[in-house]
Parts: sequence; structure tokens; C-alpha cells
Amino acid sequence: MLQTDLTKLLGIQVPIVQGGMQWVGLPKLVAAVSNAGGVITALTQPSPTALRHAIRETRALTDKPFGVNITLLPTITPPDYEGYARAAVEEGVVIFETAGSNPGPLIKFFKSRGCLVIHKCTTIRHAESAEKMGVDILSIDGFECAGYPGEDDIGGLVLLARAAKELKIPYIASGGIADGQGLAAALALGAAGVNMGTRFMCTVESSIHENIKQKIVQSTERDTIHIFRTLHNTTRVFKNKVSMEVVEIEKRPGGAKFEDVRDLVSGERGRLKWRKSRIWSAGITVGLIDDIPTCRELLERMERDAEGIIGRMSSLVIPRVKSKL
Ligand code: NAD
Repeated sequence: MLQTDLTKLLGIQVPIVQGGMQWVGLPKLVAAVSNAGGVITALTQPSPTALRHAIRETRALTDKPFGVNITLLPTITPPDYEGYARAAVEEGVVIFETAGSNPGPLIKFFKSRGCLVIHKCTTIRHAESAEKMGVDILSIDGFECAGYPGEDDIGGLVLLARAAKELKIPYIASGGIADGQGLAAALALGAAGVNMGTRFMCTVESSIHENIKQKIVQSTERDTIHIFRTLHNTTRVFKNKVSMEVVEIEKRPGGAKFEDVRDLVSGERGRLKWRKSRIWSAGITVGLIDDIPTCRELLERMERDAEGIIGRMSSLVIPRVKSKL
């Protein structure tokens, strides 16, 4: 078994967390992951009351720990963040994943209620300020990630090595991890575990359309693209007709305003057209994913592979032979 600060703090068996994923982080997937740590994505639920139902539904499916994600991003219709937070706390949730801009008030609220907060961020300066706010675990999100990598473009290898030097509290690696090799590498970089999104999208229990799972299996690491670079809300999504159209509009002389792409990108469109052309977040791990396992099969395989790699790594160290000169 792999025992780390993450497994100890969360009371989970495998040092793997399933992160927030809008339209994907639903009870069935969360419960399936929760031998590791699954999180319900709050804003996927249409209201705080619906979130209460999702929490109860998850609890009926698992007796293992799970949490709730709240991500604060530019949005077409601002959600009632406070209402979602209050509903989840009142339902007895004690683990939260926060991400996005200006998370201070949310973190303060969760900490005042004795909850454990995992805060996801893409820079060391944001990690340090969340550390000062009293979060318990940082989720360090490298440029490889799906969704929002921030604007600094620093890959996980350097970001995690920096985290090892600068951070005082436990951190987990996010972005670019989809297998046991990635888990072992993250632990080698001082992380207490990993956070995965895209890999969990492509599991039996994930509710996304089968065609999208097949697309992930067939894809290479070159099949994602960044939209919203020019709007300073960079987002890594799957490369398809719609996302390429967004990027073309952004390249127009004089640039684009959000209104110029709004109809192509809105989450509502995504929900309605899930089967057809839509924008969907995907990390470059699409190039590493070539099957659709159950969450249990995936977690067992990653744990076994990481343990094997760590064992082999330690056999690389042999006693130093003393020179006779
Ligand atoms: P949406 O329909 O409001 O917006 C679609 C996309 O456009 C999103 O990527 C959003 O960030 C972006 N956007 C909206 N207004 C913008 C602006 N003025 N400038 C630049 N970009 C803008 O979003 P949605 O997909 O329906 O998501 C609904 C909620 O879920 C939002 O509040 C969003 O912040 C949140 N979310 C959470 C996660 C997560 O992992 N938990 C991921 C994505 C979105």
C-alpha cells in the first residue's frame, strides 16, 4: 500500500483524488472513485437544493469519504457560490476542493466550519497565498491539465519541484497524470498524491457520452487546444471543429470579445449538444489513455504499477565502490 499525507488526511486508500469537472463530477462517478477521493462538482447541479440531493445520492452509493468542488471562474450566469457552499456544509460534507479566482471568502467559510480544504492552483504564488489562508492541501496544477491552466504556462515537472522547495503543507500533483508512472513520478517530486480529471472521464462509471470516451481512447497528446488565450481565461479543450472555430475568431484582426464566441462555448450548449459538436475540456493525458476501465480497475492498476516502479527505482541504488587509488 502507498501511505502518504493525503491518504492519512482524507482517510482514503489510494493517494488519488478525482477533481472537479463541470458536467462530469456526478454522484455515480464520485462514489465509484471514493476508495480514493471523489469530489462532486457543485456547479454541475442547477441549484444548492439539487446539490443536497446529489450529496445524499452519493452517500447512498458509498460509505467512503468524498468531497465537493467549487470552482470560481468567469461565467455567463454567476452561480450562488455561497448557497452551494452552505448547502454542502449543512449536508455534513467535510472535504472541499476549491479552485479559481478570489477563493478567500470560500476558504474562510469552510475553515470556520472545521472542513478540510484542498485548493487547486496553477502558480506557486497562489499556492503560497492559499497556504496563508489556512488550506490543508494544495493541488498543484501543471500546464498539461484540462480546463484552466492559468496564464504562466509552467509544466508540472518544474511547478512540483518548486512546490517541494517553497510549500510547507502537503501538496498533490494535478495535470498530466493518468497512470501508475505518473503517480510514482508525482510522489518522487514530493507530492502526497495526485488529482486526475480526464482519466476519470474515460471510465465505465463516467456519465459522458460513449462517443467521447472513444474519442479519448483514439486521441494522441496533440489533440487538445487552448481557447480563450486572448481573453485571459485560457482553457484547454479537445481539438474539434468548434474549438478550432473559437481560436480562429480569437485570431481576427482586432481580437475577439467574449460575446463573439459566447454561443459556441456556453456550457448550456455543451449540455444540450453533448452528443454532437461541443466544446469539452480535456488534458493532454488523452495521449496516455487507451482503455475504458471501471474506476476500481483503474485505481488498482495505478497503485500496483506505482508500487512496482518505486520498488524498481530503489534497486537502482547500489553501494558505492571505494576507489583503490
Ligand atoms: P459558462 O456557460 O458560464 O461559460 C462557458 C465558458 O466560457 C467557461 O469556460 C467560462 O469560464 C467561459 N466564460 C464565461 N464568461 C466569460 C468571460 N466573460 N470571459 C472569458 N471567459 C468566459 O460555463 P459552464 O461551462 O456552464 O460552467 C458553469 C459554471 O461551472 C461556471 O460558473 C464555471 O465557472 C464553472 N466551472 C467549473 C469547472 C470545474 O472543474 N469545477 C470547470 C468549468 C467551469
